[in-house]
Amino acid sequence: MPKGIWIFIEHSNGKIRKVSLEVLSQGRKIADQTGESLVAVIAGEGIGGFAKEVAEYGADQVYLLDSPQLAQYTTGAYTSALNKLIREQEPLAFLMGHTGLGKDLAPRLAQRLGVGLASDILDIEVDPEKFLVFKRPVYTGSAFSTVETTSRPVLATVRAKSFLVADPDPSRQAEVIEAPVNIDPADLKVILKEVAIAASSRPALTEADIVVSGGRGMKGPENFAILEELADVVGGAVGASRAACDSGWIANGFQVGQTGSIVAPTIYIACGISGAIQHLAGMNASKVIIAINKDPEANIFNVADYGIVGDLFEVVPLLTQEFKQLVNS
Ligand SMILES: Cc1cc2nc3c(=O)[nH]c(=O)nc-3n(C[C@H](O)[C@H](O)[C@H](O)COP(=O)(O)OP(=O)(O)OC[C@H]3O[C@@H](n4cnc5c(N)ncnc54)[C@H](O)[C@@H]3O)c2cc1C
Repeated sequence: MPKGIWIFIEHSNGKIRKVSLEVLSQGRKIADQTGESLVAVIAGEGIGGFAKEVAEYGADQVYLLDSPQLAQYTTGAYTSALNKLIREQEPLAFLMGHTGLGKDLAPRLAQRLGVGLASDILDIEVDPEKFLVFKRPVYTGSAFSTVETTSRPVLATVRAKSFLVADPDPSRQAEVIEAPVNIDPADLKVILKEVAIAASSRPALTEADIVVSGGRGMKGPENFAILEELADVVGGAVGASRAACDSGWIANGFQVGQTGSIVAPTIYIACGISGAIQHLAGMNASKVIIAINKDPEANIFNVADYGIVGDLFEVVPLLTQEFKQLVNS
């Protein structure tokens, strides 16, 4: 009989990703409500050190898939290892972040397991009959649908910042199980030889508390320097509209929106962005939206909490200067 609420834990550069701690914290609540145990699954190489941390955030058990074959994420290797573990252990639910990795892995896993998938979910309700009922956005976030999957395990990807991270309890312990990893060579169609990471001291776009984004109004790649300066003063990340990315002014990884990253920071500063629905879909859950645009009719002002009608090349440096003084005072 399927049992346990399982959470897939993502990590990068030796740190557990915040979204995984959010899902784990919510998983603890679901486990308590349903009387199930909470199980964390960590894949990679040399990952044993994460076990204590996930225990502190609520895991009762930790499965480690520790292998050189999993040192770097590849769809085939991770699908193969998780498919085997899930088939053997039969969890009731398997949840992960709706991240680049989650969006890639979850559908493949669903297909391999022959189960349904609830993707990009914003909320989870425990129902005595239906088990887990999910809320997810449709039509670029202008409406919401309620979904359940009838197959087991219930597979779902959870959007970052949908849930709060609980306070860790250093006294909590978890049972740690090293699961054997035997990946079918047929699943290793892609072998990752090298990962080049652009050095940046800024927080990841999807995890930052403040995002400073630029659009076509930036007029060229060189002008993103003023957004970077503002982001650095406030400890934020830089983002962009698709128009700016498509123009080659900034890498595609910075795109916010329906076909880019979905962000929900405490403060989102949109500079020279008109507010197309596809952009709004990626940032309208931000707590406070500040828009700078020279067109008073720009649609971005319809979602903004604070709007500055003006030339961003004058406004952004002034804001940077003000924030610098505040930070240093
Ligand atoms: C299927 C699909 C998916 C899409 N996915 C995305 C997505 O994920 N993300 C996304 O962003 N878009 C996406 N788009 C594109 C989207 O429709 C818009 O084309 C895009 O968001 C526009 O970008 P923008 O606001 O930067 O440019 P524009 O719409 O051209 O707006 C530029 C703005 O800058 C202002 N401006 C100009 N100069 C200044 C200045 N000096 N000071 C202040 N303001 C100034 C202008 O008034 C204007 O409002 C998608 C489109 C489709 C069809």
